[in-house]
Amino acid sequence: MTIDDVLVIGGGPAGLMAAHELVHTSDKKVRLLEADPVYFGGISRTQNYKGFHFDIGGHRFFSKSKEIEAIWKKILPNDLMTRPRLSRIYYNRKFFSYPLRAFEALFNLGIWESTLCMISHVKWRLFPVRQPKSFADWVSNAFGYRLFSIFFKTYTEKVWGMSTDELSADWAAQRIKGLSLTRAIMASVMKSLGQKSSIKTLTETFTYPRLGPGMMWHAAADQIRAKGGVIETDRRAIRFVRDDKQGVWAVTARDGQGQEHVYYAREVISTAPMRDVIQAIQPAMETAKAASKLRYRDFVTVALLMNKPAPFKDNWIYIHDPSVLVGRIQNFAAWSPDMVPSKQEGCLGLEYFCFEGDTFWTTEDKKLVALAKEELGKLGLVDVSKVFDGCVVRQPKAYPVYDDAYHDTVAAIKKELGERYPSFQLAGRNGLHKYDNQDHAMMTALLVARNVIAGKHLYDPWSVNEDAEYHEECAEAKAPEGAQP
Ligand SMILES: Cc1cc2nc3c(=O)[nH]c(=O)nc-3n(C[C@H](O)[C@H](O)[C@H](O)COP(=O)(O)OP(=O)(O)OC[C@H]3O[C@@H](n4cnc5c(N)ncnc54)[C@H](O)[C@@H]3O)c2cc1C
Repeated sequence: MTIDDVLVIGGGPAGLMAAHELVHTSDKKVRLLEADPVYFGGISRTQNYKGFHFDIGGHRFFSKSKEIEAIWKKILPNDLMTRPRLSRIYYNRKFFSYPLRAFEALFNLGIWESTLCMISHVKWRLFPVRQPKSFADWVSNAFGYRLFSIFFKTYTEKVWGMSTDELSADWAAQRIKGLSLTRAIMASVMKSLGQKSSIKTLTETFTYPRLGPGMMWHAAADQIRAKGGVIETDRRAIRFVRDDKQGVWAVTARDGQGQEHVYYAREVISTAPMRDVIQAIQPAMETAKAASKLRYRDFVTVALLMNKPAPFKDNWIYIHDPSVLVGRIQNFAAWSPDMVPSKQEGCLGLEYFCFEGDTFWTTEDKKLVALAKEELGKLGLVDVSKVFDGCVVRQPKAYPVYDDAYHDTVAAIKKELGERYPSFQLAGRNGLHKYDNQDHAMMTALLVARNVIAGKHLYDPWSVNEDAEYHEECAEAKAPEGAQP
């Protein structure tokens, strides 16, 4: 029986980062299990269809952490590009800069609507909801109800599939903390006067791998293997049994054929979704039942291939039009020209938010491609006769849901796991049930890997993100940046 020092579950940014750190800074014997038979990168993977590459949502590489930026450069020294960023909101057949430019937004809305927005803003500043609990209240307090209902409500409800009255204020606070309309207007004024805002916010370029984020994560996997780490794909961990006498975890993983494989390790780092993992630990956790109630929002991309480039330069466009289901449109050639086979071609990713197993999720691919094409035509954004093919990618558990119960559930799980099974650590976005970007997911993994190396829990992966609000800071000058997932 082979016993590894550390078994890492998941080959997304977090799992790969944990394994990468362990093989590069210790002599631990490391094995990583990834459920997908082909792709590394998890939600940050890049899929390939007939020579067209596309992400699950576009993935900007942007971090406040110098350490994370250095790791990206080390993993992919020759293929990181600096790309211009353009993303707009499409509302009422008009484009609005995104993040919002206050004056342009008010101008586009027209004098009457703008006046109503400003009155509503003043009213909410004077009479805010004290201790806002819902997303709707939190954002209305910041911007006024009217601006909230135009620029936040429709899109946010499409994303989460629930009313913004039900969605927790925590989520708004995490994503758009520090935002204020006044500061957004000030930044707009300074911009139009040609002055630089004092707020370090205008991220008008971003880093992106030449062939999409998956390129980064496949390179990371190669480096782990080169340093002696073992990676097995097509292995979905389904059971974690603790043998305290032996000080060993027996982990069962199932492959695509249904065959089970058992692995033994002294420690486990799991980046798989918390809901599944906590219920799969034996002897059973007391918090297993609460964990079963954690919820996720799921995501479908319909990639439409075109024999003509898209007629706009946006990397992505937010669709605030309530008459179509599509929430956002990615223009992959604008992310990197190498994402499409030639300059004469284009690939648009129409993004739909749904729940795994619902009518949308289970609709057959052919129908989804037809629907996407129809909606694209209805929006009038491109000539749909140039669309020659399409493909559908389903991403379960794209977003951990912040509902009323999640906070207490996660706190209870954290406590029980830490006290009862300290050799089983969680990291990553769904691993911690935290709405993290790649860099934060990587950082949580670095911390738990360092705990393993130190032989004690020096670092708390849950602390990452709470004081690293750079995406939100970036939003300040530009209004509702952070609100758009
Ligand atoms: C639409 C969208 C857009 C985004 N845009 C950005 C962006 O622009 N920039 C950014 O930095 N971040 C972005 N993110 C966030 C980013 O995708 C995540 O932060 C990141 O992928 C999280 O990494 P992770 O390793 O924690 O989890 P995941 O990416 O979910 O990876 C988990 C991995 O574990 C595997 N796995 C799951 N269960 C098991 C199991 N039981 N056994 C074995 N393997 C298992 C999965 O197959 C997967 O490969 C975006 C997310 C979404 C949904």
